[in-house]
Amino acid sequence: MSDALSAPPPVAASKPLSAPQKALRKLGLVRAIDLALHLPLRYEDETRIVRLREAREGEEVQIEGIVTSCELSLGPRRQLLVVLDDGSERCTLRFFSFYPSHQKTLAVGERIRARGELRGGFLGWTMMHPTFRVAGGELPDALTPVYPTSAGLPQAYLRRAVLSGLERADLGDTIPPEAIADCPGLRLRGRNGSAQPPWTLREALHFLHHPRPDTSLAALEDRSHPAWQRLKAEELLAQQLSQQRAKQERDRLRAPALPRRPDGLDQQLLAVLPFGLTGAQSRVVDEIAADLARPVPMHRLLQGDVGSGKTVVAALAATVAIDAGWQCALMAPTEILAEQHFSKLVGWLEPLLAPLGKGVAWLTGSQKKKERAAMLARIASGEAALVVGTHAVIQEQVQFQNLALAVIDEQHRFGVAQRLALREKMRDAGLEPHLLMMSATPIPRTLAMSYYADLDVSTIDELPPGRSPIVTKVVSDSRRDEVIGRIRAQVAQGRQVYWVCPLIEESEALDLGNATATHLELSAAMEGLCSADGQPLRVGLLHSRMPPAEKKAVMALFSAGLMGVLVSTTVIEVGVDVPNASLMVIEHAERFGLSQLHQLRGRVGRGAAASACLLLYSTNESGRLSETARERLRAMAETTDGFEIARRDLEIRGPGEFLGARQSGAAMLRFADLATDIHLLEWARAWAPVMLERWPRLAQQHVDRWLGGKSDYLKA
Ligand code: ADP
Ligand code: MG
Repeated sequence: MSDALSAPPPVAASKPLSAPQKALRKLGLVRAIDLALHLPLRYEDETRIVRLREAREGEEVQIEGIVTSCELSLGPRRQLLVVLDDGSERCTLRFFSFYPSHQKTLAVGERIRARGELRGGFLGWTMMHPTFRVAGGELPDALTPVYPTSAGLPQAYLRRAVLSGLERADLGDTIPPEAIADCPGLRLRGRNGSAQPPWTLREALHFLHHPRPDTSLAALEDRSHPAWQRLKAEELLAQQLSQQRAKQERDRLRAPALPRRPDGLDQQLLAVLPFGLTGAQSRVVDEIAADLARPVPMHRLLQGDVGSGKTVVAALAATVAIDAGWQCALMAPTEILAEQHFSKLVGWLEPLLAPLGKGVAWLTGSQKKKERAAMLARIASGEAALVVGTHAVIQEQVQFQNLALAVIDEQHRFGVAQRLALREKMRDAGLEPHLLMMSATPIPRTLAMSYYADLDVSTIDELPPGRSPIVTKVVSDSRRDEVIGRIRAQVAQGRQVYWVCPLIEESEALDLGNATATHLELSAAMEGLCSADGQPLRVGLLHSRMPPAEKKAVMALFSAGLMGVLVSTTVIEVGVDVPNASLMVIEHAERFGLSQLHQLRGRVGRGAAASACLLLYSTNESGRLSETARERLRAMAETTDGFEIARRDLEIRGPGEFLGARQSGAAMLRFADLATDIHLLEWARAWAPVMLERWPRLAQQHVDRWLGGKSDYLKA
């Protein structure tokens, strides 16, 4: 290895890191294998020199010639103009920013290689800001890789580091030949489409770092090349192995077995409910009950569109736990939602629990000290069979007598740490609680198969009967008067209306100002109308900075049907359930995310009345909506199916944002793309358990290689 190619020296503990070394570290490029797996974004072709006479306008080319002039031009903009003559024609290299070293290297008479986009024109060929170097030495015989990098890490340094990593790393295969032979991306396309053996990891890496110049750049760029397929298959397999192993490890933990009795509390609850379960609800209750009966902690996600009736499923799960003599906790992300759950669950369960000397407790951050102390005592004694609340439920002082089941509503709103804390509540007994997570944002299939592969998933894919579909319209804010007219018509019929104002992140004050102004506007516009109790029509205001007691009072009036219009910020986003509300107006809908819009829309259409959702949008100064805002609004108008919305959301935002809290700990896929690589994902999912079973050592090596220290993010 020549000196220029040598690796950055191994870092002695005492030696401070150089800036590029620090930058490497920041990118996670620490081990030789990390460097070897750092793959190019694209390539430059420096293998050929193009003669200017044969060149075409707009081509990205490398030319070589003698400098015939090098001048500073001091016109309106200072620039360096260098003329290169390659024997066939001349080309002017133009630099608007340059250092004295430019002039030194590009001195008249020097032989130079320059690379850039060729422009023709009035003055002949030009290249703006080409890269260049003194000619000499062999032309490279492979395409030149361009790596993803960061500030302070020059491409040339990174190239040397990667090359050295590639030479030092152990690149032996960790995927057994049986699995490779079965991999669609590799099996179908041997080299040149022939029946040659599939690419090994070593071959694929060497190739991707230094592809031969005759390689199709298109196949490299869209990553359909078999070498890329190999890398993506490797990466997906590592992800599957780590997820499935986390799941197996959890399966070794113990949890209380909570068998369901034939005439248990759950049956009693079913008997008193004002409705029968939908088929989908019954099915998921059975799935959950089967988990609870096992002495292994449940880790199940219950997904169902807004309004699909997840709360009653949670209540039934709780009765199974309570019936077996244990406690259950239910946590919601906001106080309003927790409050709603509480009143619903008290109504359903208190009559069943009271004869057993048990009840439902309530915990939030805003509770008075005395009330809180009383609740804590009930929880500690076990008298509170069910505890409903916000994060307050997982605070340290909360001691359960015997917690067996934790239900987390709108799980994506909770971080990993909070879920962990909930599980900590049982550690003393050496047992884990069962965990049921509920979400109205369905996970698209590919994400469920990849990032959520460690979870069991139950899906409610059916809405309770008697719901009328919600009609969604996208309306310009300039038609606000018409919208207000429509609100009057709704409330005149005794219906209720939500008006949601966006959260403006930069300024809470502005946000509030907006909601307050709208509240005044609507109050004035409803003049002359009456509420159900004969009083002048109430128009309420709800926002996150109101004292909890006030919020509660407003929600109580709205829930009781005594408030016609509720103007609010997004605090009502999740879970609020008022079946008489039939119109949802969302102001500045262009500022909301797709799943948020869908959640908001789900606040209406909960009863039998025809419901509508109006998405009011404002354009920017130039009268335009951004492309993604337009796509979101279009999706909302076109479908009310939560799964379809989630799929489009994934398409618009990509998995990074979609994963929210989960992604913070999760190693993201770097190479595989869930939209195009389902065949590889399915392969990895099928082979991961086989590998864990038959080749545990290889499985371990594979995960270590790909995820290094990052593989234990799934503890929660
Ligand atoms: P979500 O899944 O969005 O949490 P909820 O649990 O709030 O939905 O249920 C929405 C509404 O539907 C509630 O008023 C609930 O009581 C009602 N509901 C739930 N299941 C049924 C059913 N099987 N038949 C009729 N109404 C139901
Ligand atoms: Mg809900």
